[in-house]
Amino acid sequence: MAYVYDDQNIFARILRGEIPNDTVLDTAHTLAFNDIAPQAPHHVLVIPKGRYVTFDHFASEASETEIVDFTRSVGRICAELGIAPGQGGEGYRLISNAGEAGVQEVPHYHMHILTGRPLGRMLKKAD
Ligand code: AMP
Repeated sequence: MAYVYDDQNIFARILRGEIPNDTVLDTAHTLAFNDIAPQAPHHVLVIPKGRYVTFDHFASEASETEIVDFTRSVGRICAELGIAPGQGGEGYRLISNAGEAGVQEVPHYHMHILTGRPLGRMLKKAD
């Protein structure tokens, strides 16, 4: 089954410049900006500029150039925030929600970078 991308999703609108964003990094294939409702002192969203819905969509259909650009962008942000463990940083968590079970709100692939406080265990038992 082909992936269906909704061009009206909020991140598509950000990429078209229709909605402002608090940019952290802007490269040829990747945009990173601060989350509008941060769940930690640092909460950055990293998105590819291409039309991908989820991580699995990006992983299977993005070009190697896009994938490298995206991955290096995450690394650059970790370095710039000074959060990389082994480099004196406190650490961080990456989260990418996908689909219904993952409770994905915005259907454009994005990686959350969270840090700046103890984040607790990865998952709590579902309610
Ligand atoms: P997810 O539940 O993984 O799809 O996460 C979507 C994230 O997008 C949430 O953390 C929202 O706070 C964030 N978000 C929604 N609209 C905006 C916006 N206009 N600018 C920045 N972040 C946003």
